[in-house]
Amino acid sequence: MNINDRLDFSHEPVITVDDIISRVQAYHTDVDVELLKSAFEFANYAHRNQKRSSGEPYIIHPLNVCATLIKLKMDVETIAAGFLHDVVEDCDISPHEIESKFGTSVATIVVGLTKISKIEFRSTEESQAENFRKMVVAMAKDLRVIIVKLADRMHNMRTLQYVSTSKQQKVAQETLDIYVPLASRLGIHSVKSELEDLCLRYLHPDVYYRMAENVAMKRSERDHYISDTIQVIREKLEEYTVKADVTGRPKNFYSIYRKMHNRGVEFDEVQDLLAFRILVSNITECYKTLGVIHSYFTPIPGRFKDYVAIPKQNNYQSLHTTVIGPKAERIEIQIRTHEMHEVAEKGIAAHWKYKERGSGIVDPQAFTWVKDLLEFNQSVKNSSEFMDAVKDDLDMGGVFVFTPNGDVKELRQGATPLDFAYAVHTEVGHRCVGAKVNGKIVSLKFRMKSGDTIDILTSKNQAPSKDWLKIVKTGRAKTKIRQYLAKIERDRSRDMGEQQLDRALNGYGTNSKALDKRGEFKKALEAFNAKHLEELFVHIGSNRCHAKDVLPYIPSLKIVAEAKEKAPDYSATIEKAAKKSATKDNAVIVDGLDDVVVRMGKCCSPIPGDDILGFITKGRGITIHSVSCSRMQEIEQGRRIDVTWNSFYAFKHPVSIRVVTNDRPGILALVSKHINNAGINIRSAMAKSLPDQRGGLLFEIEVKDYSELLKVVSSIKSIEDVLVVERANQLSTVALT
Ligand code: MN
Repeated sequence: MNINDRLDFSHEPVITVDDIISRVQAYHTDVDVELLKSAFEFANYAHRNQKRSSGEPYIIHPLNVCATLIKLKMDVETIAAGFLHDVVEDCDISPHEIESKFGTSVATIVVGLTKISKIEFRSTEESQAENFRKMVVAMAKDLRVIIVKLADRMHNMRTLQYVSTSKQQKVAQETLDIYVPLASRLGIHSVKSELEDLCLRYLHPDVYYRMAENVAMKRSERDHYISDTIQVIREKLEEYTVKADVTGRPKNFYSIYRKMHNRGVEFDEVQDLLAFRILVSNITECYKTLGVIHSYFTPIPGRFKDYVAIPKQNNYQSLHTTVIGPKAERIEIQIRTHEMHEVAEKGIAAHWKYKERGSGIVDPQAFTWVKDLLEFNQSVKNSSEFMDAVKDDLDMGGVFVFTPNGDVKELRQGATPLDFAYAVHTEVGHRCVGAKVNGKIVSLKFRMKSGDTIDILTSKNQAPSKDWLKIVKTGRAKTKIRQYLAKIERDRSRDMGEQQLDRALNGYGTNSKALDKRGEFKKALEAFNAKHLEELFVHIGSNRCHAKDVLPYIPSLKIVAEAKEKAPDYSATIEKAAKKSATKDNAVIVDGLDDVVVRMGKCCSPIPGDDILGFITKGRGITIHSVSCSRMQEIEQGRRIDVTWNSFYAFKHPVSIRVVTNDRPGILALVSKHINNAGINIRSAMAKSLPDQRGGLLFEIEVKDYSELLKVVSSIKSIEDVLVVERANQLSTVALT
């Protein structure tokens, strides 16, 4: 183990194409050497006049990129693309030329990389979402694009000391925002942790160099400690005949930094700086090893994680535990099989099949995530919605904040005090009016940072509103707010429904409570599919049914209605209605009254020739229904009034007819023609296929009266393939559409 590995991010300045070829051959015996050589020669020539910021010949960059790809054991096409990755972008070589010389796969990867290099990355949260989206689209063609991009970024980060300070900042921030989460999500841990440390070096140089110094100062002491501990672990495992590879190392700087930052502690206070790794041959041995470790070293409660039984989303598998080590220092121990280790270090790259050329196909399982993401990309409306959904996926790390009592809560990035309030307790969330962050009052929209201490302010009078859904970031808070709003809506509907029903019952001198006590709602509940009276209120209040619809199902009311038959005196109502915007051009004549407002019932749309009745509506005049209309039965006797058709009425009446035909082309046009030929206006027409090769047509036409309707109906009936013609009322219209 060499602690210095961590400090030495220098690239390989003297690497040659022969080094590359022999390293590839070490894991890939029958490698296509010609392809690698010609790709190198091509790139070497194309970049011949270019230099890196370091002053070195440009070709040293593609060579180093290939070195990283080799560590990930990538296939030969990917390595060829590594040589060529900058020639389209920097040397004006056409993709076509790459394709004809090196094949479609290599060209696809190079073109994908060129596209990514043109993405204008911006650092605000909103555009970060767009950045991710673009990256995902670039990955779409070939996932190897992103692996080469990561290797490219790794070398650029390794040589970042040669560019200006402002560029260092920009590139490092972009790396931390975009490439680290991607490497993490693709499970390429080796790349992820090196990129993180490099980012730390440029974004927080003070922290970084302090750590580096600290680690270096204690180096020999630490080296001893590590080798002693390894020895102890080995001996214990040997006692139990477990064959294992044991290694130890300081944790990567960025993970220590994150811990310091999250817990608000100093470097010296971070305890588990060392991590040990035990590789064994199978899963049973993993758990056996864990048992041995826990029996010799005291485990820290709550620090054991079983990613073997429950792998992470990026397929990472390992057992994690933190124990008190031999010198009473906390140490982290990871236990996994060799295969799991391969996946842990190389992630998606470990799934590559590189046995033959052209088979750069990744394990479909490992690919699922990217595929899902791409499909998702197509289904969401905008990039922030996309981001919202993949945020958890991308393992962007949460914020750790404290309650006033010192309890830690982990929430996702961008979380607000409202999210925190809901994380504490649902009621605290509902009543939250604001918060004190580190003693200062902030708004609900404040975005918390790790280490903040949050004191939630509540008020009895506070309640969640729809706007809150836009403020909160966590799924938990969103769900709780939605549930609350749904309940409020339900309560409101229930109250309104109760009022409406009681108003309807008022005319019968009773109310819902009294009727409920006598069990009078039994039939109504059944009819309207309600479990209890409250649910029936909700139905009424949310307009799923009307209070009046319920009345016929209340047994005792019928008796009351009949008893009231002779009682009505609605003349006052009628007179009032008459004064309201009366028209002389009424289609019907109401017994003895001229200027009364009448409307045709939409449910039955009566036309002259139909037997009709008027129904007195308070304040709205009179509604005309056909005697056969099912609504008529609900109308209490007392409100009915005799009416007759006005033969002087000059306007036509709308009526709907339904035509069932054998389904054949042109039938709609043919029926329409018959209607038009009868001199009848069509207001609307609709056609629909019905089962058994039949077609349904629905016309709304305008007729003078019933006899005109009959004429047109018989004309339609004469058409071949017409099976049924019927007058449609509102109910069958619904059934048809
Ligand atoms: Mn490059």
